[in-house]
Amino acid sequence: MPTIDAPARKQIALVAHDHRKAALLAWAGRHRAQLARHTLFATGTTGRLLAENLALAVHCLESGPLGGDQQIGARIAEGTVDCLIFFWDPLEAQPHDPDIRALLRLAAVWNIPVACNEATADFLMSSPMMDSSYLRDIPDFSSYRQRPA
Ligand code: PGA
Repeated sequence: MPTIDAPARKQIALVAHDHRKAALLAWAGRHRAQLARHTLFATGTTGRLLAENLALAVHCLESGPLGGDQQIGARIAEGTVDCLIFFWDPLEAQPHDPDIRALLRLAAVWNIPVACNEATADFLMSSPMMDSSYLRDIPDFSSYRQRPA
């Protein structure tokens, strides 16, 4: 099976919907020192809040509803996302629901570790795989790519 070598310094994507931003900030505050050892990128507002409140270096993409989720999805397809922390809002419909579903779908397709709440995110951060090299299996899509049209 093909693999992608996720190095000790991971590329972590972070997204939080508006009603979940406070929760993500509180969670990131508890893990600030560990997060700072990785490469972080985020949708626009989420990234700005992380940078302003926690002084983390975050590469900010476009705001989620303006295409930021799709930018992260594209990076997943390109193999440059090692972990996704996505605090989506289970209690409110979002205008960019198709983009959210697409992002979660691509994370599933490419076997990306995803945390949608604090508990799962805690588990991910406490894994020894987070701070060491990890060979992530990716499905062999060669026959899918070569299927008859
Ligand atoms: P935002 O995007 O970080 O720009 O708010 C997140 C989202 O709503 O998808």
